[in-house]
Amino acid sequence: MTALVWYRNDLRVHDHQALAAAVSSGLPVRALYLLCPGQWEAHQVAPLRRWYVLSSLRELGQALAALGIVLDVIDCGDFAGVPQALADYCRRHQVSQLFCTREYPLNELRRDRAVADVLGGLGIALQGFDDSVLVPPRALKTGQGTPYTVFTPYRRRWQHYLDEHPPAPPARPRKREAVAFRDDNSLRKALAALDVPASLQAHWQPGEAAARRRLQGFVREGLAGYKAQRDFPAQAGTSLLSVALSAGTLSVQRCYLMAREAMAREADTEEGALVWIGELAWRDFYRQIMANFPHLAWGAPFREETKWLQWQRDEQCFQAWCEGRTGYPLVDAAMRQLNQTGWMHNRLRMVTAMFLTKHLFIDWRWGEAYFMRQLLDGDFAANNGGWQWSASTGTDAAPYFRVFSPIRQSERFDPDGVFIKQYVPELHGLTGKALHQPWLAPMLAPDYPSPIVQHEGVRERVTAAFQQARDIGGSTGIVEAVKNRNCI
Ligand SMILES: Cc1cc2nc3c(=O)[nH]c(=O)nc-3n(C[C@H](O)[C@H](O)[C@H](O)COP(=O)(O)OP(=O)(O)OC[C@H]3O[C@@H](n4cnc5c(N)ncnc54)[C@H](O)[C@@H]3O)c2cc1C
Repeated sequence: MTALVWYRNDLRVHDHQALAAAVSSGLPVRALYLLCPGQWEAHQVAPLRRWYVLSSLRELGQALAALGIVLDVIDCGDFAGVPQALADYCRRHQVSQLFCTREYPLNELRRDRAVADVLGGLGIALQGFDDSVLVPPRALKTGQGTPYTVFTPYRRRWQHYLDEHPPAPPARPRKREAVAFRDDNSLRKALAALDVPASLQAHWQPGEAAARRRLQGFVREGLAGYKAQRDFPAQAGTSLLSVALSAGTLSVQRCYLMAREAMAREADTEEGALVWIGELAWRDFYRQIMANFPHLAWGAPFREETKWLQWQRDEQCFQAWCEGRTGYPLVDAAMRQLNQTGWMHNRLRMVTAMFLTKHLFIDWRWGEAYFMRQLLDGDFAANNGGWQWSASTGTDAAPYFRVFSPIRQSERFDPDGVFIKQYVPELHGLTGKALHQPWLAPMLAPDYPSPIVQHEGVRERVTAAFQQARDIGGSTGIVEAVKNRNCI
């Protein structure tokens, strides 16, 4: 009899409940990862992210081999092929117990239900762990017994829950006799099939060891100043741990505990640590939203009435946004950062998402999909939550009349243009007001595009569009106020 750890987005050996439980079963342990390239295609997962996952998997295979555990990698096409592939594998290796970390998006839930049916028929016990979140998605309910849809009260209850149930991640299993690591064939082939420029890979280090080092470095050097620095894209003020958290090369419990320990150790870390822990709460918040409102996976807006908004289908403006050619320096620098590194600073994700959905009035789903095609840390719950927040269609969203000015954001968060000039070299000659509004000095930046839309009047047009969408409930269709926007 064998215990099997089925790895998904939890590619690590430390702080891993499923692995620890498999080892404590006393049975010989194997590990398995099922490649589903069809799923990656269907969801347009960025090649850079695939590279990160596959490279981390190779490192995981080595770490498991050192613990005496073989990791097998099998290509089973897509999720539809998973139950059969698992059943065959379990029969071949006499698996009697299967351990895994729970996943919450709709397709993953359906996949896991199908797996439970098939394995149940074979008499195999399946045990799941809520290890990718700090608080399980159905643990907290409002006074009315409904899921939380507003962040602030959720955050309060979330902290209360954690005070009562502090995370206690298990230690890495003790070393048994190591087995030889063999570089898996399916994995090698999948990596070889990827086309990811070395210039993109150079920004990132896959794997658990690098993620753990980054966390330690951030807690040591970045946590205390996080509150003051996190909004300025020219500064290295955030942890850059989102990819590690989304692929599970790092446990969110470890992040939380290390931040709390730093707070207890050094009083001047407290402010930064509390704000950073708040970001981990946002991460849990959007995961519980996704788990409790599965229809979001079909592209539905959270706010019912906003489904009647008549978004523009303007391919030209969309392309200019994707390529960082909107004529607004901060928006363009941000989009170029995304295209050149696979990551974008949080403030800029909000600025670019609002620009697309408010200034250009282009459907947030276009932007959501584009981010997924580019992002190293592409994560359905956080991405969908961030886009619906920015478009004012989501839970606890920015109110529709709140529109970030791309000029004001630029002046506040990149006053000297250090970040802008890193990605928009056409603006090197500009300073002061003209740097943030290059149309004031077109002679000094002749290669930089003119604005594709005017900022003036956006708020009024958006307000009218939301009002009409509410009034008409979709019955008459066209929203004139938005049709008349000044997209040049
Ligand atoms: C339009 C939009 C799209 C986004 N898409 C994604 C995405 O695909 N994947 C993703 O991980 N995050 C996404 N975010 C959230 C956030 O921008 C990133 O998590 C953050 O920029 C990652 O950088 P960091 O690791 O340095 O974060 P830090 O500031 O160091 O924060 C620590 C961790 O908290 C989590 N976190 C921080 N902010 C948020 C947030 N607003 N929502 C949920 N979790 C958060 C992340 O796991 C992050 O690594 C999106 C935000 C917006 C507005």
